[in-house]
Amino acid sequence: MKPLSEVIDHTLANVQRLPEVETPLADASGLYLAGPTLVKSPIPPFDNTAVDGFAIRLDSTLAHSGTILRVTATVAAGDDPSKLTLNPGEAIRIMTGAPIPPQADAVVMVEDTTTIDDAVTVHRLPQVGDNIRRAGSDIQAGQRVFEAGTKITPAVRGVLASLGVSHIATFARPTVGVISTGDELSDAELLAPGKIHDSNRPALLDSVAALGATAVDLGNVGDDREAIRRAFWHAVTTCDALITSGGVSVGDFDYTKAVLDELSDNQITWFQVAIKPAKPFAFGRVGNVPVFGLPGNPVSALVSFELFVRPALLYMLGARQLFRPTIRAVTTVPLDHHPDGKLHLVRATVELDGAGGLQVTPQGHQGSHVLTGLAQANALILLPDGVHVPIGASVQVLLIGSLDTDTFSPPNPTNVH
Ligand code: AMP
Ligand code: MG
Repeated sequence: MKPLSEVIDHTLANVQRLPEVETPLADASGLYLAGPTLVKSPIPPFDNTAVDGFAIRLDSTLAHSGTILRVTATVAAGDDPSKLTLNPGEAIRIMTGAPIPPQADAVVMVEDTTTIDDAVTVHRLPQVGDNIRRAGSDIQAGQRVFEAGTKITPAVRGVLASLGVSHIATFARPTVGVISTGDELSDAELLAPGKIHDSNRPALLDSVAALGATAVDLGNVGDDREAIRRAFWHAVTTCDALITSGGVSVGDFDYTKAVLDELSDNQITWFQVAIKPAKPFAFGRVGNVPVFGLPGNPVSALVSFELFVRPALLYMLGARQLFRPTIRAVTTVPLDHHPDGKLHLVRATVELDGAGGLQVTPQGHQGSHVLTGLAQANALILLPDGVHVPIGASVQVLLIGSLDTDTFSPPNPTNVH
């Protein structure tokens, strides 16, 4: 058996980033930047007001609060005030986001004034620069905002849009074919005796799509060597990567192995990984196309995806960060691992313990055919060979889902100092 990290390293050493492409920003969500983003013009592009109020000149008239100024103009967001003049004793009404008029050196908030007709009384004197958002205070011209490998999240897309970017250099979006194998699999609503619904393919297609790659549904194929050969050949000649499930163990009808060996010229490695679940795993390339042969058991297939396929696809996508975080959490039950030479990956739920810490509870049934346990889990406890962990002790946990919760407890304002 091979250690988990060795198999991950082998997989990552044998995948390549896809070529760079110029992508319209509207199509770039979830892709990764191929190079750093250099800023040509500053954001904000001009000095503007952070509040509704009055642009004033502190350099002249205002010596004390209570001063009365004459309102001579109004500047709204989108206006150009460059032709206006602000004389001593005057104020210009201004709306949030509007450019600061020439000569103005501060904005007084409307809440700190009272206005009668065109006379405004300033009750609280601002300091020079108050309430002015300076040009370049978010991003300066010439600055690098994002590095290569940054994911185009909604906020990143927003920043790129604010820079006026319409096309951006990203790594291409890989197309990833997904095929299930097995005579028992059926797409029919009503199952014939002995048949089961294919659960791996939909789950793997969604897993691929969630990473930002294009998932290609290549159907399921029965335990027939020629049919498997045709399906796999079609996949590796039309996709950037292929994920198969089933047929990587040693059953009589497991043709996946024979076909992949044939198509790859024996370039596939048939791993026995020292983990439970997901011990069998096949990986190699047919030509330049990486092929991931996952076990058929639904839990094993998805755990294999998490451990081996996900980092490899993220690498192909151009991501800098390939791995889920490992964190520590306190177990709510004792955990036992009878020695078998494997790292156990225990499906579990991590949650906040209410006191700022994290606690973890394993799912009841850990059988590798019990997919509901994985569906309810957001974590895998990494339980080393042969350990006993008492209740309340801290364990290492791979976080594979979110920590979202049904309550929100912001700090009580009176407790914030
Ligand atoms: P295999 O790896 O082909 O020997 O399959 C192992 C177990 O996983 C068997 O019980 C199969 O019926 C089941 N299995 C294989 N492929 C799938 C699939 N796509 N969806 C659901 N179960 C599957
Ligand atoms: Mg099978």
